Amino acid sequence: KKYGKLEPTIFTKIIDKTVPAVIIYEDDKCLAFRDVNPQAPVHYLVIPRIPIPRISEAHDEDSLILGHLLVVAKNIAKKEGLAEGYRVVINDGKNGAQSVYHLHIHVLGGRQMKWPPG
Ligand code: 5GP
Repeated sequence: KKYGKLEPTIFTKIIDKTVPAVIIYEDDKCLAFRDVNPQAPVHYLVIPRIPIPRISEAHDEDSLILGHLLVVAKNIAKKEGLAEGYRVVINDGKNGAQSVYHLHIHVLGGRQMKWPPG
């Protein structure tokens, strides 16, 4: 099952390596890179190579890739020394404050987080 009209985003260019990013992990299904505007001492994004635009539009059939993104997110957190804990966030759509419509998991750590978020 395909994802509708695929609008390329800046993340497509990071995958293609036509736009530079500090890539900290990659495999055949995903890559992770540091957020250009970090909101914590450690802030990276994990994205699928397939351009799923947002979590709410992910297909049930893509559960393996969705699970893989989480596994990669936590494995990197260990390497980044986030043993004290961290936050994993997916912003979806307008109310979720999503700005780039290529699914990404934020991982933020290295400082005390607050709850509830703004
Ligand atoms: P969203 O609000 O869509 O969940 O988050 C998008 C994130 O992507 C933001 O935290 C923003 O700083 C980050 N971002 C946007 N453009 C770029 C870019 O060109 N390079 C990198 N490394 N991060 C980006």
